[in-house]
Amino acid sequence: MFDSLSEKLESVFKKLRGQGVMTEDNIKEALREVRLALLEADVNFKVVKDFVESVRAKAVGTEVLQSLSPGQQVVKIVNDELVAIMGGHEDNSINLAAKPPVSLMMVGLQGAGKTTTCGKLALHLRGRKRRPLLVPADVYRPAAIDQLKIVGKQLGVAVFDSSADQKPVDICSAAMKFAELNGFDTVILDTAGRHQIDDFLMGELAEINETIRPAEILFVADAMTGQEAVNVAAGFNDRLGITGVILTKMDGDAKGGAALSIKAVTGKPVKFVGMGEKLDALEVFHADRLVSRILGMGDVLTLVEKAQSVFDEKDAERLKQKLKKNQFDLEDFLAQLQQIRKMGSLESIMGMIPGMGKMMKQMQGAQPSDKEINRIEAIIRSMTPGERANHSIINGSRRLRIAKGSGTSVPEVNQLLKRFTEAQKVVKQLQKLGPKGLLKGMGG
Ligand code: GDP
Repeated sequence: MFDSLSEKLESVFKKLRGQGVMTEDNIKEALREVRLALLEADVNFKVVKDFVESVRAKAVGTEVLQSLSPGQQVVKIVNDELVAIMGGHEDNSINLAAKPPVSLMMVGLQGAGKTTTCGKLALHLRGRKRRPLLVPADVYRPAAIDQLKIVGKQLGVAVFDSSADQKPVDICSAAMKFAELNGFDTVILDTAGRHQIDDFLMGELAEINETIRPAEILFVADAMTGQEAVNVAAGFNDRLGITGVILTKMDGDAKGGAALSIKAVTGKPVKFVGMGEKLDALEVFHADRLVSRILGMGDVLTLVEKAQSVFDEKDAERLKQKLKKNQFDLEDFLAQLQQIRKMGSLESIMGMIPGMGKMMKQMQGAQPSDKEINRIEAIIRSMTPGERANHSIINGSRRLRIAKGSGTSVPEVNQLLKRFTEAQKVVKQLQKLGPKGLLKGMGG
């Protein structure tokens, strides 16, 4: 994420950490580089100016100049200030406190990812025991209504029945009544977008706002559009009074400007970030975790939360028993791969492990890629249940059949089996040693 900004800041910090003594000149030089890196990442000019001034004021305080490792102190100040401009440690959860049905109005330009995000939000809320209703109120874009219906169907979330000849405000009012009568506690309104802000659209959104009085007006912004997203957010905020922002396409090669400026410019917090096209690719926004990722320090907390949401405790216990009895087979291996898959792309998972993002770049292709996992999955899927349970029966002709069935080659099948056999051996040895033997082996 934010690769170029991340690299530049890491290089400034590396120099700073090495400094035994910190002078005002050192700090000035480092801040000059930080300022350039932020401007290149398309961060709002005024935000950069205030940021640099605030870091300078704190860093040239006598405490830092005299502290034991002044370089690291400055790194910490930059870290803390970056977190602060993105909203600090404030609670960004959506406001669901009102009497149900609670309405959430989604606004933004066309193509920002509004409809997709409505689906993601519905899924997120359902995971929190809410009963959401999706409401298509974009009557202008052809197929917008159908798109939301498809999303709802994919998720098994109800979609209010509307048609393109209705007025958006009427659709929203009717949907609120429907929700109340049918026990939906959260209503997500997918409104129309344009390519740019125009009076007609704003008038219509204002009308919905005045009639429905939604608990939240969430501005959906494409993070890849940088400063443009910030300007449009400010425009929507002036006219409607948004309550929060959802930044989409953070998995792409956004430079960082939108994420780093939008809160400082509009005063409204980022509440979620979209991390992919799939409907489960939505993360609650935490400024400190994002800064940690930008500075190459990983984001272990998000990783743990993802793992908790994906891994089933019963499954884990079953697996432990199988490992104990040394019965771990290719079927279990496949199941594990699929669970890891559910956590997102390998690249995004690796980016959350401290130091891993950078290491992956350095290793250039040596790391397992999503493509490689696809291949492994295809190979195991081409095996019969008997072969998965006991791979020693896989002889030459079976290997050829598996290679053909999975669109791979016999050497690739061989390699997978070899790796799996090695892994099994390691597990066997560990079992034999047991915890005591293991300690003995390590001289403990
Ligand atoms: P709308 O016009 O605002 O309703 O936008 P859509 O929901 O139709 O999304 C526009 C495009 O952006 C679609 O191709 C989505 O799949 C894609 N998209 C939305 N959110 C994300 C995201 O977080 N990451 C990526 N990579 N693509 C996204």
